[in-house]
Amino acid sequence: MKRIITLIHALFLCSISFAQQNPDAVKYAATITQDDLKENLSIIASDAMEGRETGKRGQKMAAAFIAAYFEDLGLKGPVSGSYYQPVPLFTTSAPVVSLKAGTTELTADEFIFLGSGQTAGEMTLPLVFAGKGSDAELEKLDVNGKAVLVLWEANASLRNNPVLTNLRKKGAKIIFGAVEKKEEFTRLSSMARRFMGGGLSLEKPESGNISGAIVVTAEAAGKFFNTTYDKLNKAAADKKVSKVKPASVAYSIAQTVSEVRSENILGFLEGTDKKDEVVVVTAHYDHIGISTRGEGDKINNGADDDGSGTVGVLAIAKAFVQAKKEGKGPRRSILFMTVTGEEKGLLGSAYYSEHPIFPLDKTVVDLNIDMIGRRDPAHKDSAPYVYVIGSDRLSSELHTLSEATNKTYSNLAFDYLYNAEDHPDRIYYRSDHWNFAKKNIPIIFYFDGVHEDYHRPSDEVDKIEFDLLALRTKNVFHVAWEIANRENRLVVDKK
Ligand SMILES: [Zn+2]
Repeated sequence: MKRIITLIHALFLCSISFAQQNPDAVKYAATITQDDLKENLSIIASDAMEGRETGKRGQKMAAAFIAAYFEDLGLKGPVSGSYYQPVPLFTTSAPVVSLKAGTTELTADEFIFLGSGQTAGEMTLPLVFAGKGSDAELEKLDVNGKAVLVLWEANASLRNNPVLTNLRKKGAKIIFGAVEKKEEFTRLSSMARRFMGGGLSLEKPESGNISGAIVVTAEAAGKFFNTTYDKLNKAAADKKVSKVKPASVAYSIAQTVSEVRSENILGFLEGTDKKDEVVVVTAHYDHIGISTRGEGDKINNGADDDGSGTVGVLAIAKAFVQAKKEGKGPRRSILFMTVTGEEKGLLGSAYYSEHPIFPLDKTVVDLNIDMIGRRDPAHKDSAPYVYVIGSDRLSSELHTLSEATNKTYSNLAFDYLYNAEDHPDRIYYRSDHWNFAKKNIPIIFYFDGVHEDYHRPSDEVDKIEFDLLALRTKNVFHVAWEIANRENRLVVDKK
């Protein structure tokens, strides 16, 4: 008898700790189907979309598809009636550098510019020799406003190079690195590709700031000081750096800056009694385009990254539209936004957060989806899972709601690995939600982890696990539903 009572008691406890499902939420979540997701993804991640690189034709086609989808659903275009929020960007061409040792023009095979920036015409500066650029050597040298030549250590890294950082701090205008060995010079030439321009930015690059360094051959270094590399090397070894007579260098770096047009695509569903407050659901629809190197298929389809999130947003939009049609529309408004420029540095979401269409102080949450169609090696055979990142960073309520909603409806295994503040991958800062979080708007980021096809042409539709994609999408739908329909706005209780 006692045993039975205990069992009944346990069942009772279960039913109160696991909230009742809302039949409406269940009904509209059911409109999110694998077939629908697959149909849309087969378009978004097709070869015809050419990898959806920001500013390129494929991105524009994907944008047109998403805008047409929002229009078909009957969502409003919230940007003065349009679905398109223009995101003006800038790109720079490969730098063209000319360089003179005194008045002798160096040839293109004598130097490599490993940096970026441009000058306003030709600059002539005094050039000082700084040995290996050590603290001891720099102590006695005035490099402020000057050009500086240092002996380039073999295999020195360009990023976080202490010599470069130190010289810049002391006011060096431009830095030259003399490379002793031919092989090292050749190795560095292959790295020059990285500085061939083509990056995108929201701000117009200004002339004057030259980053990185110009590496020169041993012979060219000799030419600068009317001596030989060996003598420079010896001066450094003998601690007689200041005995090397300053020379002069003339250089110009030209880089053309041009505008690139891209766009975020926004669809808006107006709420009812709390329509001034906005729930935002985001995914980036851009990807990395067509690879310039490699054999065979070069189109980076980005089926998982982030075609999966994009079609997830479309499916969630469709479910809410259906609910609204049947008189069950959300109390708060919902903005469905697929953003551009994520792969170029979270540019589309950064632009939105600086030029919001709806006031940020009325924006209650951003649910961001970036890759939810695959498994990573750590979950090869696991139960359905998703990495959940950021839910507890700004709002304890959001975290509680996210956990409870999952238990009630989806029962996914939530993996919080990447949510650890000290995780070296710093995922919290690496997708579009970050541009909301930094404005103190609570966010949740949904992610499936990194797999072998990440940023490769093999990130294809046929590798997507549509059952998982549907489960994860439904989970985001339920969280959006709860947040949009609850009585109180989520409280931000953390910073
Ligand atoms: Zn992504």
